[in-house]
Amino acid sequence: MKSIDSFNFANQKALIRVDYNVPLDDNFNVTDVTRIVRTKETVSKILNDGGTIILMSHLGRPKGEANDKYSLRHIVGKVSEILGQEVVFAGDVLDPKTADVIAGLKPGSIALLENLRFHAEEEKGDPDFAKAIARLGDVYVNDAFGTAHREHASTATIARCFPGKAFAGYLLYNEVMSLETVLNGGEKPFTAIIGGSKVSTKINIITNLLPKVDNLIVGGGLSYTFLAAMGYTIGNSLFEPDMLPVAKEILDQVKASGKNFYCRLDTICGDKFGDDANILVTEDNNIPDNWEGLDIGPKTQKSFAQVLRDSKTILWNGPVGVFELEKFSKGTKAVAISVAASTLAGAYSVIGGGDSIAAINKYDLSDFVSYISTGGGAMLEYLEGKELPGVKALNEN
Ligand code: AMP
Repeated sequence: MKSIDSFNFANQKALIRVDYNVPLDDNFNVTDVTRIVRTKETVSKILNDGGTIILMSHLGRPKGEANDKYSLRHIVGKVSEILGQEVVFAGDVLDPKTADVIAGLKPGSIALLENLRFHAEEEKGDPDFAKAIARLGDVYVNDAFGTAHREHASTATIARCFPGKAFAGYLLYNEVMSLETVLNGGEKPFTAIIGGSKVSTKINIITNLLPKVDNLIVGGGLSYTFLAAMGYTIGNSLFEPDMLPVAKEILDQVKASGKNFYCRLDTICGDKFGDDANILVTEDNNIPDNWEGLDIGPKTQKSFAQVLRDSKTILWNGPVGVFELEKFSKGTKAVAISVAASTLAGAYSVIGGGDSIAAINKYDLSDFVSYISTGGGAMLEYLEGKELPGVKALNEN
C-alpha cells in the first residue's frame, strides 16, 4: 500500500474517497465534525503539491435512489469551513454537467460530488460505475478507513482503474499502520483489553488476538459468560448461554498456549441496572443470587493496572463496566488512567470502538494515548484478521 507521500499531485485531479457519513440534526447541521477534520492533512498535502481535489463519499442509507434528505449538498458549507476554502458542490457523478464543472476546476480548488449511494451500483461494487467515477480524475486516493471493509465501487473496484496511481491517504494509512503495529509489530509484552457487552460480537477478535498477545484481559458484560464457564455463580449478570462452549474453548486454548488471562478477582454488583441501584462488592469471583455484575471491583482494578504498567504495547476495545452509569464507571476510568500512564512511560497504545473512545474522552485522556482508531466496523474486522477490501485493492495496485 503506497501512501500519498510517494506521489507529487501537481496538475493532477485527485479523486479522494472520504468518509463524510457525518451525523446531522433535523436542520441538516453537522453535529460531529471529526470525520471531516481528520481528512485535512490529506487535502493539504495534495493542494500544497498543486493538485485539484474531487471529494466523494456516501451519507446515510439512501438505498440506491436520489433523496435530498441524504444529499451531501447539506454539508458543503461545513466542509468549506473546516478545510479553510470554498468547496464547490459538483453534483451527481453521472450528470454530464458534473463533468463540465470538474473540467473547469483550477489547480488548488476542491469539489464535492453528490452522495455516491444514490446509485445502487455503488454498493454492488459495479465496475462500470467505478469507471464512470474514475473518468473524472487522474489519480485515486482512499482516505475512508471507516468504509474500507466494504467492497464498493468507490472504495475498492475503482482502484483497478488507476494502475500505479491509487494511494492511501494519511487517515487510512495511519489507521492501518497503527493496527498493524499493535497486531504484528509492537514491542513485547503486548496486552489486549477486550470489554463491551457480548462475547458473540468479540469472539472473533479474541480468537485472532490470542496467538499474538502476552496478556489477554477480558472485562465488561462479556466476562460473565467466561466466569460461568469457569464454574462461578454469576447471579443476574449478562450471560450468553449459547456462547458457553466457545468461552470454554477459549479458556482451554489460553491454558494450552501459556498466555496470561486476566478476567476477574472481584465485582461491583447492583441490585438493578441504574444509578439508583444498591451496591455490593464481592469478595471473590462469585456473584450472589439477585445481584448483577456491572463493574470490576477494586482488586481487579489493581491487577489490571499492574499488567498494563508492565506492558509495552496495548490494545483496548470496549469498556470493562457500565461506565455510562456513575456508580459503575470506576473500573473503566481506572483502565483509561492505566493505559494513559503506561503510554506516558513509553508504551504504544491503540484505542478503538465507540464506547472506549467515549470513555477516554470522558476522562480527558485522549491526548495521552498513542492512537485512537475511529474505524468502527472496519477496525473490528481488521482486528478479527480479515483483509479489508479497500486496503486489499490498494495493496494490489
Ligand atoms: P460493545 O458495544 O459491545 O463494546 O459494548 C459496550 C457496552 O457494554 C457499554 O454500553 C457498556 O455499558 C456495556 N457493558 C459493559 N459492562 C457491562 C456489564 N457488566 N453489564 C452490562 N453491560 C455492560
